[in-house]
Amino acid sequence: MGVIGLDVGGTKTAGILWSDGKVAARVRRDTDASSTETVLEVIFSACRQLMEMAPSKGIAVEAIGLGIAGFIDLEEGVITEAPNLPFHNLPIKKLLEGEFSLPIAVDNDANVAALAEARIGAARGMRNVIHLTLGTGIGGGILIDGMIYHGARGAAAELGHMIIRADGPRCNCGARGCLEALASGVALARKVHELAESGVSSPMLEEYKKSPGSFPASRIAEHARRGDGVAKSLLEEAGHYLGVGIASLVNIFNPEAVTLSGGLLGAFSFLEGPMRSAVEENAIALSRRCARILLGTLGEDAGCLGAALLAESYTGPKR
Ligand SMILES: [Zn+2]
Repeated sequence: MGVIGLDVGGTKTAGILWSDGKVAARVRRDTDASSTETVLEVIFSACRQLMEMAPSKGIAVEAIGLGIAGFIDLEEGVITEAPNLPFHNLPIKKLLEGEFSLPIAVDNDANVAALAEARIGAARGMRNVIHLTLGTGIGGGILIDGMIYHGARGAAAELGHMIIRADGPRCNCGARGCLEALASGVALARKVHELAESGVSSPMLEEYKKSPGSFPASRIAEHARRGDGVAKSLLEEAGHYLGVGIASLVNIFNPEAVTLSGGLLGAFSFLEGPMRSAVEENAIALSRRCARILLGTLGEDAGCLGAALLAESYTGPKR
């Protein structure tokens, strides 16, 4: 007995065959996001490949779970919108059921990552968990009493768009001062650009000026490690805002843990101090004392593991 878990992102699609609490097989594809059909073909072919691998491992696939970077109408099994995928009101559940004749579970990718970290990752065994993915943007998932919180139309837990500074910089969503506009890879890249334009000088900014089009956010941490004061203060400022956001989440949800994952954690040694200070200063003591801030342990696997756990909940856990 087993399930398939798929994590469908704007650039990569990863899949696993999950059985007896273990990954039995993996597939990984580039997501061809040029049309709805091309993405569906990537999803279908990844599922088919895992189904074909299952019998030789003594596994019968019982359900398929999908984590998708987008807004999902859970009642209808429809992807209403996806910022980095060409999906608009796509009845994904019906399409997959038609193709594979199996129960299909669909949810947002950050929601299923939160589920995975709470069930089998950093917050294993905890029932009230907030998960933040810190990358180019900031995503989030909320687990309340062991269950993913979806809100009225499946759009809850957009934690990156929690407003931290109402007079802050404009966010991609149109609002001002969202966490994502202050503490994400995009926010850091914008700050580097602004500082370089304003005539501030540092080794990092000199490197940026030579090739502004190809300066990844990971270079900021590298320069901070080499002692670049501008790079260090940018990361510390991002860490402070992250801590302010976490303090609000701690005050609202009184979680047992806040788990963090994503590429920005390559700079965690610079983010951590200011982040913890801001939580200490801003969160209510009772909630603050019980909320542990933990680094996720599942890495890039969190999405497909969470999708598999979701699928498993459709068939009952197999032990
Ligand atoms: Zn926003």
